[in-house]
Amino acid sequence: MTTTTDTDRTPDVLAYDELLAAITDPAGREILDPATGEVVGRAPERTAEDLDRAVGRARVAQPGWAAVPDAERCALLLRAADAVEASAGALAELLSREQGKPVQQGPNALFEVGGAVAWLRATASLPLEPETLFDDETGTATLTYDPIGVVGAIGPWNWPVMITVWQIAPALRMGNTVVVKPSEHTPLSVLGLVHVLGRVLPEDVLTVVPGGREVGEALSKHPGVDKLMFTGSTATGQAIMRAAADGLTRLTLELGGNDAGIVLPDADPEAIAEGLFWGAFINTGQTCAALKRLYVHEDRYDAVCEALTAVVARMPMGRGLEEHNVLGPLQNRAQYEIVAELVEQARAGGGRVLVGGDPDESAPGHFYPATLVADLDDDNPLVTQEQFGPALPIVKYSDVDEAVAMANRLDVGLGASVWSADPEKAREVAARLQAGTVWINKHGAVDPRMPFGGIKRSGFGVEFGVEGLKALGVPKVIAS
Ligand code: NAD
Repeated sequence: MTTTTDTDRTPDVLAYDELLAAITDPAGREILDPATGEVVGRAPERTAEDLDRAVGRARVAQPGWAAVPDAERCALLLRAADAVEASAGALAELLSREQGKPVQQGPNALFEVGGAVAWLRATASLPLEPETLFDDETGTATLTYDPIGVVGAIGPWNWPVMITVWQIAPALRMGNTVVVKPSEHTPLSVLGLVHVLGRVLPEDVLTVVPGGREVGEALSKHPGVDKLMFTGSTATGQAIMRAAADGLTRLTLELGGNDAGIVLPDADPEAIAEGLFWGAFINTGQTCAALKRLYVHEDRYDAVCEALTAVVARMPMGRGLEEHNVLGPLQNRAQYEIVAELVEQARAGGGRVLVGGDPDESAPGHFYPATLVADLDDDNPLVTQEQFGPALPIVKYSDVDEAVAMANRLDVGLGASVWSADPEKAREVAARLQAGTVWINKHGAVDPRMPFGGIKRSGFGVEFGVEGLKALGVPKVIAS
C-alpha cells in the first residue's frame, strides 16, 4: 500500500455546495431539516449486498494498511485532521441543517467538527509502546497489540460527526480498516466527513455504507467483520450483541444513559447554574452523557431552581443557521414525541413546570422548549426513563445517602456529577456513584485523554485514551 505523508501540503477547502454535490444521490432518500422541514439533500440508500462488497474491499485493504508503520498512520491521521479543519465551515453547515444544532453559539456544530479534529489529533499522539511485563532471571515477556482486522462502526444521530471520529480514529491508528454505517437520520454529515477523510486516506481503508437498520443488522452479523463499535440505544446494543454471538465478534457498546447530578448542601446555586444548564441542555439534551435527572438538597433547592430557571429562560432556541441561537430543534419527530409525553407524565404526577413545557404545535420544526420540572417523585417516568431531550426533572432530597441511593438505583450508569464548594466532600460522594465517569462541578466534559464508557446497561468497553486504543487491538504476548 502506498501512502503520502506530505504533512506540509495545504488541505483543500470545500465549499458547502461542493461538499453536498459530492455526497448526494439525485435518486436517494430525502433528508429533511428538522427546523424547517426543507430538503437538505438526498442520501444514497445502500443495501446489505452493497455492505457485503464494502466489507470485502476492506478485508483486502487491511493487511496493506496494517503494514504501514504506526508513525506513518499517525501522520495520515494528522493530515486527516487538517483536512477536516480546512472544510469545517461546510461540514458544520451540513451538520446544522441535517441534525438541527446551531452552527455558531455554544457547544454545537462548529464545536462538534472541532471536536472531530481534536480527537483525530489526540488519537495520533497517544503513546503506545511495547510493554515489558517482566525481564528477569525467569525470562522475558512483552505485550503488544496487533490489529483486529475489519471494524464495523454503527452510530447514532445526535453527534454524528464526532462519534464517527471516536469510532474510526483509534481503529485506523491500530491498523484496522473500517466500514461505517451512519444513522438513517443523519447520513449526510457522516458522508461529508468520510468524503473529506477519503481525500487523505488510502482507498478502501475507510468506507461509509448509508442505509437503514437492515444495513446495520447485516454489518453486525457479517462474518468478515472482526470488531463492532456501536453507539446508540440499549435495545439496539442488545440486538447487536445477539447478532455478534455467532462470529464471536468483539464489541464496544456505548449505550443509553440516565445520568444523575447531585447538588450538595454547600453548593453555590448562582455559581453552578450555568454549568448545570450546559450539562443538561447541551445539544438540546440529545446527548448520551447529559445530566438527565437532578437531585438537589433541600437547603439549596429553591435557590437552585430559581438560578437554573433564569439561565434556561435566556437561552435562545431556533434554526441552527441563525447565528444567535444556542438551542436547536429535536432531530426527529419520534424523539419530540418521547419528550412531550414524558413532560405530560411529569405534570400528571404532580410536577411543577418552572419554565417551558408549552410547545407551539402549529410552528414548523421539531422544537420543544427547554423545560424544567420540579417537585417530582423519584419514580416519575421523566426521572426513570431517558428523555434524550430538553426536559430536566428536579428532585428534592434531605440526606446525602438518600441522594446517592436514588442516583444508583437505575440499571444504567454512563456518567454522573456532584456539585459542591468542597472538592474533598464532592470526591467522597463521587466515589460512591455507579457510573463510568463522575464529574465534579461539571457534567459530560469528555476528553480524548480520559477513557469513556458505561457500566450496567450503558454498555461495556471504553473509548479514548490509551485504553481506548487497546480496545481496537488484540493483545499479543511474546515470552521467552
Ligand atoms: P439507535 O439504537 O436507534 O440507532 C443507532 C444505530 O443503530 C443507527 O445507525 C441504526 O440504524 C442502527 N441500528 C438500528 N437497529 C439495528 C440493529 N438491529 N442492528 C444493527 N444496527 C441497528 O440509537 P439512536 O436513536 O440513533 O441514538 C440514541 C441513543 O443512543 C440514546 O439512547 C443515547 O443515550 C445513545 N447514545 C449513547 C452514546 C454513548 O456514548 N454511550 C452516545 C450517543 C448516543
